[in-house]
Amino acid sequence: MENKKEMRNWLNEFNLTHPFVIAGPCSAETEEQVLKIAHELKDSDVSVFRAGIWKPRTRPGGFEGVGEIGLKWLKKAKEQTGLLMGTEVANAAHVKLALEYDIDVLWIGARTTVNPFAMQEIADALAGTKKIVLVKNPVNPDLSLWLGGVERLYNAGIEKLGVIHRGFSTYEKTKYRNIPEWQIPIELQNKFPDLPLIIDPSHITGDRKMILEVTQEALDLNYDGMIIETHYDPDNAWSDAAQQVTPDALKQIFIDLKVRKVNDASVEFTQKMTKLRTNIDILDENLLDLLGKRMKVADEIGKVKKDANVAILQNTRWNEILGKMILEGEKKGLTEEFVLKMFKAIHQESIGHQEKVLNK
Ligand code: PEP
Ligand code: MN
Repeated sequence: MENKKEMRNWLNEFNLTHPFVIAGPCSAETEEQVLKIAHELKDSDVSVFRAGIWKPRTRPGGFEGVGEIGLKWLKKAKEQTGLLMGTEVANAAHVKLALEYDIDVLWIGARTTVNPFAMQEIADALAGTKKIVLVKNPVNPDLSLWLGGVERLYNAGIEKLGVIHRGFSTYEKTKYRNIPEWQIPIELQNKFPDLPLIIDPSHITGDRKMILEVTQEALDLNYDGMIIETHYDPDNAWSDAAQQVTPDALKQIFIDLKVRKVNDASVEFTQKMTKLRTNIDILDENLLDLLGKRMKVADEIGKVKKDANVAILQNTRWNEILGKMILEGEKKGLTEEFVLKMFKAIHQESIGHQEKVLNK
């Protein structure tokens, strides 16, 4: 797939003066619930109403969605509010039904994007459709798999494509439900600047208190829009209760978000930026220089260990370094998360260097 300007056309057709917004409950629960939320969202910045009809639950026994009847409610919500309707599809049967009920936006969930068979089945079922199709990132941090999903749809003649960044699963507990790994969507955006990129702060954070902050971060990275789970009674939602916001809270988020310009051509801005960027370039060079020197020392250590026939990994020493660096990093305004990630990477490179020496 090459970057194609046409990919952005569907978004331009909305003629928005603000980011593109999809909002609505995690799941369609009852007809009243769907209609009430849709009415509260009309006449706002929301273009598309979302509601899950088929819910992929991690373990059986959870609420698995209302199924086809929910599509009738969405149809009614569209007639009454004029909002476009969006839902998740995970197989050909879902696609067939969603198209029958004239759903406008279909998205592929994170648990489906990981599976090339499922993606191909969906692409075949959607072939040539004029509907908007959005691909969520796979649960694992794999850019090729994400792009592969988009390519299967593109090859099936679907032109109104976009991607949703919903974060990635980790075994480690973090402050996020799914860690953002911003570098992955940024790389995708660099490769395909015309593929609309939408943030899903609800599934990234799992916590309504963090929705504004993560959405702002995304807008600062030039994302095109957001999909935010919204429910009039979030605490009693049938799925994803902790992360849903009320329609009023959502409207407050729209007020609080700062939408920034993509660029500024003024001389003042350009001069300031050139100066700062020169500074950054020099510092980056220094960083690389230092890292190179550090690896030379690692080579020396490798030689000493080889002569003494000692194993490379010395856990106590490594944990000491990490503890010390986290504290030092804090003093310099660096987060623990960053310091850990950086030193793990440095450590890995260092082990690689020592291994080369030891096995020469
Ligand atoms: C959802 O949007 O409700 C959903 C199930 O999302 P994801 O595929 O990102 O887990
Ligand atoms: Mn959800």
